[in-house]
Amino acid sequence: RSNAEKFEFQAEVSRLMDIIINSLYSNKDIFLREIISNASDALDKIRFLSLTDKEILGEGDNAKLEIQIKLDKENKILSIRDRGIGMTKEDLIKHLGTIAKSGTSAFVEKMQTSGDLNLIGQFGVGFYSVYLVADYVEVISKHNDDKQYVWESKADGAFAISEDTWNEPLGRGTEIKLHLREEAAEYLEESKLKDLVKKYSEFISFPIYLWASKEVDVEVPADEDESSEEEESSEKSSSEEEGDEDAEKTDDEDAEKKPKTKKVTETTYEWELLNDVKAIWLRNPKEVTEEEYTKFYHSLAKDFSDEKPLAWSHFTAEGDVEFKAVLFVPPKAPHDLYESYYNSNKSNLKLYVRRVFISDEFDELLPKYLNFLKGLVDSDTLPLNVSREMLQQHSSLKTIKKKLIRKALDMIRKIAEEDPEDANNKDKKDTEKSGDEDDEKKGQYAKFWNEFGKSIKLGIIEDATNRNRLAKLLRFESTKSDGQLTSLDQYISRMKSGQKDIFYITGNSKEQLEKSPFLERLKKKNYEVILFTDPVDEYLMQYLMDYEDKKFQNVSKEGLKLGKDSKDKDLKESYKELTKWWKSALASDNIDDVKISNRLDNTPCVVVTSKYGWSANMERIMQSQTL
Ligand code: ADP
Ligand code: MG
Repeated sequence: RSNAEKFEFQAEVSRLMDIIINSLYSNKDIFLREIISNASDALDKIRFLSLTDKEILGEGDNAKLEIQIKLDKENKILSIRDRGIGMTKEDLIKHLGTIAKSGTSAFVEKMQTSGDLNLIGQFGVGFYSVYLVADYVEVISKHNDDKQYVWESKADGAFAISEDTWNEPLGRGTEIKLHLREEAAEYLEESKLKDLVKKYSEFISFPIYLWASKEVDVEVPADEDESSEEEESSEKSSSEEEGDEDAEKTDDEDAEKKPKTKKVTETTYEWELLNDVKAIWLRNPKEVTEEEYTKFYHSLAKDFSDEKPLAWSHFTAEGDVEFKAVLFVPPKAPHDLYESYYNSNKSNLKLYVRRVFISDEFDELLPKYLNFLKGLVDSDTLPLNVSREMLQQHSSLKTIKKKLIRKALDMIRKIAEEDPEDANNKDKKDTEKSGDEDDEKKGQYAKFWNEFGKSIKLGIIEDATNRNRLAKLLRFESTKSDGQLTSLDQYISRMKSGQKDIFYITGNSKEQLEKSPFLERLKKKNYEVILFTDPVDEYLMQYLMDYEDKKFQNVSKEGLKLGKDSKDKDLKESYKELTKWWKSALASDNIDDVKISNRLDNTPCVVVTSKYGWSANMERIMQSQTL
């Protein structure tokens, strides 16, 4: 095209496209879900803008927030069109090729090891999945602020953009035309597309239509010259226009004869609605099946891993602030959960106000440490037609947040309570025989802990109000846990009589800690010690001071008391001279004191950290961070 401007894909994007094109991945279906999901996002955006600016939607068909799928069998083109926000020329250049998102390289890396292409949407590069089925793609787009443009690429490292002077004007929105590869011909079958929409796009909240053929019997005047058999089987494929005038063809001559008619099957086309636009969260939780929740989670989280969420909670809050919410604990942590923890505040909850999608980047709904949850909130209390900034300051958000945290922590606690293998349940006498359901819950909490334990620890650090609730969810290994996870409640139930404090030690690894001289005596005296080996544990213990009236004591720090020993005083006296000499022999700015201790068994002496100083492990962590 004469007016085309050429661009090169950003290098990572180009690599990604190569991988997709050459992929042997058999489940090519996923491209449709990604395109429909983009269409739905674009519709959400325009609907949101229209809340404060009615004009923006335009009139007539333009105002219809819908998605349309059309097939062109002859030219092997599958088109998906939306009346969403559309893309300006600049958007097309940026979003479809020249700016790589953080997920691009992460996804490329993943695909080179053991990645599943199915997860492409989670990495924010779902669009490029079209090259699983197409070798040439056109994106026609019209944004309110710009002219209509065409983006096109054969995935050969470059794309072109032209002002669109030949296609029908879209009004507003985007049409993706996929020129299907030879081996992707199945996506020209209506039945295939219907199945796919059912399977993957069930929870899209905009109507999805297919320009579908329909066989209808019509009576037409019989033509006596031709044999009837041939006529019956001759199928008339009509053009896309409905209401063919043929059926009504009667001229005066024909009418005068005794009208002879016959039945023929004609193919007509009409928009067929493929999805049932229902909001699952408005339904009664008792009537929603487990399978429906699972599917809803997959679509909401763009997580098509076939795994079930670990837990969910669907509830209605009543009172001053009314809202409905569905929360999910995903089966796996996303690849970048902790990467940008302190920089980004992105929650994964979608906010709706009276069924209208507002935003999925609303920080005020959940605290950072619960960012791993997925779900949505639909509020009846928040106002609809105000700016986002105003919404963010609305007084009811605080109440919503508080309730969401409580429900979220309850949901997590329940994973533990229902898991027969969780530390807290092991000693429970199983009064009931464990059924299939129990089997399913087995090991779920360990799985949760493995994926999201760090978030719970960050919660203890950040959320003083819920610290105790969160501490209940802590799991760790100890000198008595036998390689399994245990809990604070379990620890307390095993405490020796007379033991006042909860003992713990921090370090690099379990193996290293188990050899620690600090543990010698405690082990010998049969005290249990918690083994903390995650760098975050060191920070955690600066915030977690006590639990159920018991204080925490780092056994490598000053202040360890293991019950009274009558000989202590005598020992102190008889070694007074030695400790004095020793203290003076060591440089005084390196050491606070030299003391007789009862914490050791075989090792003659250890260096102990003062009560308020950094432990040796903390020193190590701090050093590794500043280096
Ligand atoms: P994601 O949807 O996660 O952002 P994609 O690769 O699927 O990633 O899409 C990239 C970007 O292209 C989108 O963020 C959006 O800006 C733009 N885009 C894609 N499809 C459409 C569409 N139908 N309408 C408007 N913008 C779109
Ligand atoms: Mg997408």
